Order: sequence, then structure tokens, then C-alpha cells
Amino acid sequence: MSNGHSHHDEPALTVRPGSSTAAVHGGGRPPRTWPRGTSTPIFQSSTFELDDDAYADIVATGGEGTWWYTRLGNPTLDAVSARIAALEGAEDAVVFGSGMAAITTTILALTRAGGRVVAARELYGDVFDLLRQTIADAGRTVRFVALDDLAAWKAELAGADTMYVETLSNPMLRLADLPALAALAREAGAVAIVDNTFTSPVNLRPLEHGFDVVVHSATKYLNGHSDLVAGAVVGPSDKLAAVRQLAVRLGGCLDPSAASRLDQSLKTLALRVERQNENAAHLARWLQSHPEVQAVSYPLLDSHPDAQLAQRLLAGGGGMVTFQVSGGDRRAAAVMNSLRLALQATSLGGVETLISAPHNTSHLGLSTPEREAIGILPGTLRLSVGVEDVADLVDDLDQALTRTAASVIGEAMS
Ligand code: PLP
Repeated sequence: MSNGHSHHDEPALTVRPGSSTAAVHGGGRPPRTWPRGTSTPIFQSSTFELDDDAYADIVATGGEGTWWYTRLGNPTLDAVSARIAALEGAEDAVVFGSGMAAITTTILALTRAGGRVVAARELYGDVFDLLRQTIADAGRTVRFVALDDLAAWKAELAGADTMYVETLSNPMLRLADLPALAALAREAGAVAIVDNTFTSPVNLRPLEHGFDVVVHSATKYLNGHSDLVAGAVVGPSDKLAAVRQLAVRLGGCLDPSAASRLDQSLKTLALRVERQNENAAHLARWLQSHPEVQAVSYPLLDSHPDAQLAQRLLAGGGGMVTFQVSGGDRRAAAVMNSLRLALQATSLGGVETLISAPHNTSHLGLSTPEREAIGILPGTLRLSVGVEDVADLVDDLDQALTRTAASVIGEAMS
């Protein structure tokens, strides 16, 4: 090989192996030293060859310095973890097979049995159910508090182990006073955990605002191509050691192929999110002035209840825009069916624009009054804005809103 590396470090065992042996062992073993490519190799291996040094490390430390089984550690997973830690400005990170695996492991690792977790009432539905049922069944007391009720947070946090919040609520994109919440957690000696999925580290790095641990559904902005499911936890080494130890027991580790694709996608995270910020801010302003639109929620709009906080905390408003069309949910469905570019799908953060109605997807589990209490009124649509040319997205939404207007289709829809 021109770079001095050989394919074969070890001599072949037999001169003329049978075809089954050749199929399994032919070509020899991989070289011990590989050339450095421009991207991280995929170590698509569940296990790794051991030698005397590896056994010595396993006996002495439990194998901390050795890659020997992928659920315990794998070079591709370590590489993508290190990139995510760098993006959040953290010491350490662990990746998982889903956001839910990351969140479950983190909450259980950092809240003692018999201890208490104080969580925001406004949470992603599966995480709300996880806390209310599974975490409570696992012997932790769970208390829910309204995001903006700082007095209630202070009261509930006394003696608590952990705080759990999200950076932007779904779908109304409410923003909590995160530095104030982190300060309350610190005062109470509770570990402050925050889900940064909706903002991404491009728009907000919660560790800089006093949070201890950040969790992600890496399925969303971190990966950005809607082609895999993954999760991540980042924070200081001592907290992450507890998370990693429980991750090994609970399982939920990420597959190396998915880790490699996530690693590659992360290289364009800032490019994608900056474009999504621009597109979403443009669409939010345009929708606000559209006669067929009744209300728009976007953190950087002056009409947003948390606009001042958003301007102080966020580097960009993010790629999510929630809006309400006149004519209720039937009209909303007609608008979605008329779109040519935006795809009807849940999830978010991908390069392609997605649209969904919370009442029959993300917030199906809530009654109509419960939905209205958190601002989801009939006709509400949630856009995850992609990286397309914004003029094309405007045209697409405009034709859908115009074609479905009551004045055009000749019936009052309500
Ligand atoms: N957190 C938030 C804010 C989410 O939106 C989601 C998924 O939709 C999750 C966590 C769960 O992540 P995953 O679907 O990757 O398990």
C-alpha cells in the first residue's frame, strides 16, 4: 500500500481453506493501524478481538480503556458522541438508539429510587407518559409544574433530585426562563436536565445557562435527514458516568451504521439550522400577514408571549412555525391536502418541510378542552420548515390557502 499499511498483519492459518472457511476468514484480519480518512470509519462490529493488554485492562478497570463489546463502547459511537459534546460545549456525551432511550436512562440514572423529579407540565407526550407512569412505577416521585410558575418550581424543587424541562414547548413554542429555572435547581441541589431537541445547540447551548445535562432526540435536527432514530445525552463527566453505566444495563445503544450517518449529518448542522431559521422566520412573518391565517406562533415574532426572552436567549428562532387557519380542523386538513411541497408527516428537523395537525397526531391523547388550554385551537397546523428555497415554500402555502378559502370553494367550513 502506498501509505505503508498492509491489509494483512497476520499470516493465513491454512494454505488451502475450505470454501466456508474462506468465506468467513478469507482476506485475513483487518490491519491494526488504518489510514486516516476524512470521515469516521463505521466499526460495524458487535465485538472486538481481545489480547493480553485488553484482558489486563478488563480485569483492572472493567474494560474502560478497551473496546471489546459495542453496547459497552465502539469507536464509531465514541466519535459521534465526541462531536455532539463539542457542539453543546460539554465534557462528555453518550448516544442512544432513540431519544426516548436517552431520556429514560438519564432520568433513572440521576434520580435515586425514592427520590423526586420535578418536571414541566408542557412536555412531549411520550416523555409526559414516561414520567407519569414508568418513572413513577420505578419508585420515583414525579411532580409537574407549569413552565412559567417560578414560585411553584421553587417549592417543588426543595429536596428534589432532578428537574426536567424542554427548551421550546410543542406545538406552541413557549420558552421558559431557562436561566432562572437552572438557578432554582442549583439552589435546591437538584440536577437540571433539559431537552434541547427543538432548538439544537446552534440556537441555544443550555449548559451556558446553568443546566447540568442536555438530552436530545437526535432523530430531529442533529441528524436532519429524517432517515434514522437516535438519541444523545451530554454533560459533565461525573453525571455522564452514571448515565453510561445505566445505559450498558438498559441497552438502547445506537447501531454503528446509524451513528456514522449521524456523524456525517452533524457536519452540516449549523448550515442546515441557520437556513431553517431564516426560512421559518420569513414564513412566520409572511403567514402573519396572510388574510386566511388567524394566528402565528414563532418565538421571534413580537406577538409571541415570550418574544423578549427568545431575543435574549436564542441565536435563531428555530425551524418550527405553528399557525391557525380560519375554518377549523376541516380547513386545516384541506390546506394540508392541497400542499405540493410540504409533506404530511409528524417529526421535525429534517431538510424537507413537514406539516401536521396536532389534534390528530402529536396531541391526539388530549381532549379538546385540554388542547385549548395549551393554545391548540381548531385549525392549528405545525410546520417543520426545511432547507428548500423559501420563495417556493411561500408559493406552496399561498396556493393551498387560496385554493381552500371559503370564498373559493363556496362553502363556509367550520
Ligand atoms: N423529545 C422531543 C422534544 C421530541 O419531539 C421527541 C420525539 O418526537 C422525543 C424527545 C423522543 O425522541 P425519539 O422519537 O427519537 O425517541
